[in-house]
Amino acid sequence: MTDVAHNLQSLRQELDGSGVTLVAVSKYHPVEMLRQAYDAGQRIFGESHVQELDEKYPQLPDDIEWHFIGHLQTNKVKYIAPYISLIHAVDTMKLLREIDKQATKSERTIDCLLQVHVAQEETKFGFLPSELREMMDEGEWRTLTNVRIRGLMCMATNTDDTTQIHREFRQVKELFDEIRAKHFAGDPSFSELSMGMSDDYPIAIEEGSTMIRVGSLIFGQRNYNR
Ligand SMILES: *Cc1c(COP(=O)(O)O)cnc(C)c1O
Repeated sequence: MTDVAHNLQSLRQELDGSGVTLVAVSKYHPVEMLRQAYDAGQRIFGESHVQELDEKYPQLPDDIEWHFIGHLQTNKVKYIAPYISLIHAVDTMKLLREIDKQATKSERTIDCLLQVHVAQEETKFGFLPSELREMMDEGEWRTLTNVRIRGLMCMATNTDDTTQIHREFRQVKELFDEIRAKHFAGDPSFSELSMGMSDDYPIAIEEGSTMIRVGSLIFGQRNYNR
């Protein structure tokens, strides 16, 4: 049996003093396991399917900070807008506009990260660095009143080539620094760099990650047939 409390404790020890935020990625795991993590002190959970999150959310304590880490379809934003804390993978201006609209309806401000596409073929989602620069320069995002861009997110290529993983994370960190200097000078809210999962989080932290999204290392293997 997976010892969730033990796994969390060893991760926390590793992160101690680093200032890195741990998002416990609980997708495909049953509510009982999330409760074990909650009882062991974890308060930030990441999910990547709207329906699954919508089912779990009402069953768990309301001091949990829910993060949406997966690809989010525009037509599903409305379901999570009333309670979501941070949306990690905003990959189009259209999605950002919809989040702003639904956040306004819920009388909230929703924190968002922009997803950067750097991996080799893993996912088709995310802004290419050039597209991200263009979007930031264009400036429409500044007119959105109920979303706050808190930083960037990325996934590295799923490979054993650690040099490549280092290179991809470093590329996103450099882009993060560039965008912060150009568009958020004097605004401390642009501060989060979400990168690193179970297999590559130590590399991500070396390269400047502020937030890691760890699933299997805490909860064990996912059962996709639930
Ligand atoms: C599933 C998932 C994770 C966690 O992956 P593990 O390898 O289980 O740590 C992190 N980020 C995203 C975007 C995910 O979809």
